[in-house]
Amino acid sequence: MAEHQLFINGVYEPAISGKVADVENPATGEVYARVHQAGTEDVAKALDAASEAFQSWSKERPSVREGVFLKAARVLESRKAEIMDVLVDEAGSTLMKAGYEVTHTPLHMISIAGECRRVHGSTYWSDYPGVESYCVRRPLGVCVSISPFNFPLLLSNRKIGWAMAAGNTVILKPSEVTPVIALKLAEIYTEAGLPPGVLNVLPAEASDLGDSLIADPRVKKVNFTGSSRVGHIIGQQCGKYRKKVTLEMGGKNPLVVLKDADIDYAVEVATFSNFMHQGQVCMTGSRVIVEAPIYDDFVQRFSERVSGLPWGDPRKPGVMVGPLIRKGQVDFIHDQVKAAQAEGARVIAGGEPRDRYYLPTVVADVTSDMSIFHTECFGPVASVIRAESHEHALELANDSEYGLTSAVLTNDLEKSTFFIDNLESGMVHVNGPTIRDEPVAPFGGVKNSGTGREGGEFSMEAFTELKWVTIQRGQQQFPLPPKS
Ligand code: NAD
Repeated sequence: MAEHQLFINGVYEPAISGKVADVENPATGEVYARVHQAGTEDVAKALDAASEAFQSWSKERPSVREGVFLKAARVLESRKAEIMDVLVDEAGSTLMKAGYEVTHTPLHMISIAGECRRVHGSTYWSDYPGVESYCVRRPLGVCVSISPFNFPLLLSNRKIGWAMAAGNTVILKPSEVTPVIALKLAEIYTEAGLPPGVLNVLPAEASDLGDSLIADPRVKKVNFTGSSRVGHIIGQQCGKYRKKVTLEMGGKNPLVVLKDADIDYAVEVATFSNFMHQGQVCMTGSRVIVEAPIYDDFVQRFSERVSGLPWGDPRKPGVMVGPLIRKGQVDFIHDQVKAAQAEGARVIAGGEPRDRYYLPTVVADVTSDMSIFHTECFGPVASVIRAESHEHALELANDSEYGLTSAVLTNDLEKSTFFIDNLESGMVHVNGPTIRDEPVAPFGGVKNSGTGREGGEFSMEAFTELKWVTIQRGQQQFPLPPKS
């Protein structure tokens, strides 16, 4: 069985903590790898390395940084098959989802390369005679990136890539259930020529690290993607230690289907938005809000479509719905579905656990007083909700603590702009799924879904500090009394 060590200062080394943890294959429950776990002394060592590397990496020429990201994309492409294996065995990804990650991550790397020269400043007219006034952006220093389990390659790369492109150095703490893919990412960047210390990867149980990752004065920014529960803890720590922070958190996203929408297309959009990676996507459109005149028709066609979705062994070609990341998650989802049923909702597809899997499920007649309406299930369960009008659909859509993404299906221009203007959401997609991700678009949420935006220029801003500069030509005259 493979054993993996920590990645610090360009080399793999055993954890000083002496702790090694088992990583399970979500499909079988078998131990898939053993991974060294960082403790506070390992954090200190990684901080030393990242801090030292910042001295040169922050001054590195953009052409060198570009070159690393472009080469990383090529290295990843050449190792696709091996990386897909890890995504399947460690994260329970279906072949389709693993294929998406290994195809899109190199595209993100290429986009990140393209941003290395685009760190914008500004110039200002000055009221002071002879003064040139402008601002420049400079890298921050050591950044801590914390990534979730669901898209462990794409999201770990997003967490570290923009930070490094802007001239920072990084300590990545991956999810405790998907550490191997993060260590592979370090291998890829090393093969691409990334200097030692610029990226350090510390698999760990968060509880073993306490505040050590965030409290150190050399850490200038924390960049988190994960649940809203943990995001709030991180946000509080960052407040306490006055760190910059970006939080990309959970969602309970509305997919609104208005009465003029093409029902067959709406069913395809809802199926993709809900069952990609068995619903373990922050952008899952798990509240499907359908206008009354087409509600019954939609519910019937959606139930037929979802009942026929192939589920099971993620290695089997054509399977859409694989295992949940943890066995406990199956019970949590089943409890949500049973509670909704007890409250009057109808299970019209699935609704049953199968060991480490949950059957693709649709719950109809969900109302806003039910727990399932508000709770992020992070599993293959879609709720369908009836709206009496498009105004009612908007009210239902906004009735959530979350505000990550949203979608509206309509060909009515007036109504689509009504939703664009009024949805309380960081992202709105008209006539598309709730799940959309592009490297340079501003990705992020409002309300309990997060603060800050990621991607392209927005990340380059988030990972740099503004510095105001003035240059005096000639000598300034001061309003001082004459010299005595
Ligand atoms: P999680 O919050 O349980 O864990 C995320 C990361 O935080 C992991 O690396 C974990 O080890 C770490 N962590 C946990 N407690 C910590 C602590 N006290 N201090 C420091 N780090 C800590 O999330 P998850 O289960 O891995 O991922 C699923 C969640 O992530 C869902 O809620 C989903 O919506 C969200 N998510 C959001 C986005 C987005 O871009 N908005 C993308 C993907 C996933």
